[in-house]
Amino acid sequence: MKIDPHIHSSGISLCSRMTVEELIDMKREQGYDGAILTNHCQQWYPSVKDPKKWAEDFIAEYERGKRYADEFGFRFFLGIEVTLTEPAYADYLLYGVTPEFLRKTACLCGKSQKELYSICRENGVFLVQAHPIRDEQTFKDPAYLDGVEINCTERDYAVWEKVAAFAAENGLTLTCGSDTHYPEAAKRLGGMIVPDEIENAVDFAEYLRNCDQTELYLTEGIKVFKNSGKS
Ligand SMILES: [Zn+2]
Ligand SMILES: [Zn+2]
Repeated sequence: MKIDPHIHSSGISLCSRMTVEELIDMKREQGYDGAILTNHCQQWYPSVKDPKKWAEDFIAEYERGKRYADEFGFRFFLGIEVTLTEPAYADYLLYGVTPEFLRKTACLCGKSQKELYSICRENGVFLVQAHPIRDEQTFKDPAYLDGVEINCTERDYAVWEKVAAFAAENGLTLTCGSDTHYPEAAKRLGGMIVPDEIENAVDFAEYLRNCDQTELYLTEGIKVFKNSGKS
């Protein structure tokens, strides 16, 4: 099945202009079978001042989408994109998170990369650096990453070969997502072809950890990358 593991809804992500229902409609129209909602967790969001409420609101937005997606048999999984700013700005996609994990860890955006990675490890969560060479961002320490993302916004996709080379050099898994925030950003497709048996975010993390290769779904067609695996 074809999934897009990187989308943002306006109920949580302040930079998104699409409701969770609009995102699901768009992804279904584009022929996807599923998506992972990866709303932002960033220190400058007023909501993170109250971590308990933050977690409940974050989970409620996902559950609203899940109820809608279920009407169509569209797979809809929980994810999160955490921004760390020390020592430099970087965004991380967390795959395999559950509501319990979010309630327990609420607001990981104040951690270091190493701390974030060890929390992920302890909880079976797969950690991917999102769009690693956007703007001033650079590749982060691969010792504390499981994967890197080929991001399919126009400017991020332009550097996909560098991302693929970094993954191969460091034994990281390549993922791919559209990072959809607006209807007009949908010109370029992005996603992954994954086994139909994946039914939730935890299954997806398990798959990423154990697969021999990942199949990336792009406007240009499907690209397959060997998974050299670091674990
Ligand atoms: Zn955003
Ligand atoms: Zn994003």
